[in-house]
Amino acid sequence: MTHVVIVGCGVVGAAIAYELSHIEGLSITVVDRQQPAQAATGAALGVLMGAISTKTKGNNLWMRLTGIERYNAWVPELEALTGQPILFNRQGILRLCFEDEPLERWRELAAIRISHGWRLELLDRAQLAATYPQLNLERITAAIYSPDDRQVDPAALTQALVLAAVQRGVTFEFETTVVGVEPCDRANPLSELALQQCQQVHTTSGSLAADWLVIAAGLGSTPLTAALQQPVDIRPVLGQAVHVRLPQPMGHSQWQPVLTGEDVHIVPLGKGDYWLGATVEFPINSLMPLPDAVALDTVMQQAIAFCPALAEATIVRAWSGLRPRPEGRPAPIVERLPGYRNVLLATGHYRNGVLLAPATAEKIRQLIVST
Ligand SMILES: Cc1cc2nc3c(=O)[nH]c(=O)nc-3n(C[C@H](O)[C@H](O)[C@H](O)COP(=O)(O)OP(=O)(O)OC[C@H]3O[C@@H](n4cnc5c(N)ncnc54)[C@H](O)[C@@H]3O)c2cc1C
Repeated sequence: MTHVVIVGCGVVGAAIAYELSHIEGLSITVVDRQQPAQAATGAALGVLMGAISTKTKGNNLWMRLTGIERYNAWVPELEALTGQPILFNRQGILRLCFEDEPLERWRELAAIRISHGWRLELLDRAQLAATYPQLNLERITAAIYSPDDRQVDPAALTQALVLAAVQRGVTFEFETTVVGVEPCDRANPLSELALQQCQQVHTTSGSLAADWLVIAAGLGSTPLTAALQQPVDIRPVLGQAVHVRLPQPMGHSQWQPVLTGEDVHIVPLGKGDYWLGATVEFPINSLMPLPDAVALDTVMQQAIAFCPALAEATIVRAWSGLRPRPEGRPAPIVERLPGYRNVLLATGHYRNGVLLAPATAEKIRQLIVST
């Protein structure tokens, strides 16, 4: 048996556990200091911006589109395995365009997507008025409709990944903190170039043997990598969001696309419920960011400006979370920890961890099976 220890059971760690559970001969343990989906994942809105992303090529676009494809298969698979429904919006994403926004680049992007089998449609004001009567079109000049993009409930998804992974033999240790990692010396101590190897993972409930260590610990990845003398700098960017309720859904039906404009998402949850968010609040002077009431109010006012009916909504719940953002390099970090043969990083997913989790899991699988 090859022992794999995964630190972190947010959406990224859970997706990796589920993906790896399909490989014969692996004994997989996931360790989290909390219950699953409590950190960034528990705060996320689950908006999956794949085809609507402005990227036209490269690894990040591949990861995004893989995420959409994989969720289309995973969600029904997980629902069947667990018997639990997962909120999964298949109505797509409608991205609002405003005065002065050049539409030409969207036409070009639509042509590129269509050439790769994805759809993007440019809607003019008249089409918007007919299809989305909830919109205030005063400032909105057009919109891009991406029918292939999705939205998923991140906590329900993560719980389902955990349940399905348990069914496939994965062990989970919750309320257990990884406090140390024991690297052994280089296989050949005479060679400076030889890679180190992690052998034992020390937790608050004992030690685990590890042939592979996968660090999917979000913000907790920095102290773990520092303990291995290879610090990876992941910093918090705070996001606030709110769940609101209307007596009835906006628009022609309760199942509508996610609306997104000026970085604000309006996420329909069915009936008259919506998530609105999210703020993007950076740390000031390296201090842990704290929720700013003005920032949340600004997001809500923007949502009301797009859909005036939201002014009548009651607030069900407001929350905040910390996105794990890699400092000085692009998100996410999915690679071998420098200097180590068997330590893999799956961290720093910043604003798109839910979307990028399936492709992250796929990359980790490839790193393990190809070695
Ligand atoms: C308000 C908000 C809205 C968002 N909206 C979206 C969205 O619409 N779409 C999208 O794709 N993404 C969104 N995101 C981003 C997304 O939430 C993150 O990118 C994603 O959740 C990161 O997942 P993760 O599993 O890497 O980290 P986390 O969910 O933070 O999980 C890391 C886990 O590691 C555990 N851990 C850390 N250190 C240790 C240790 N030493 N021992 C044991 N366990 C440890 C923690 O307890 C935690 O459970 C949003 C984020 C926020 C805050």
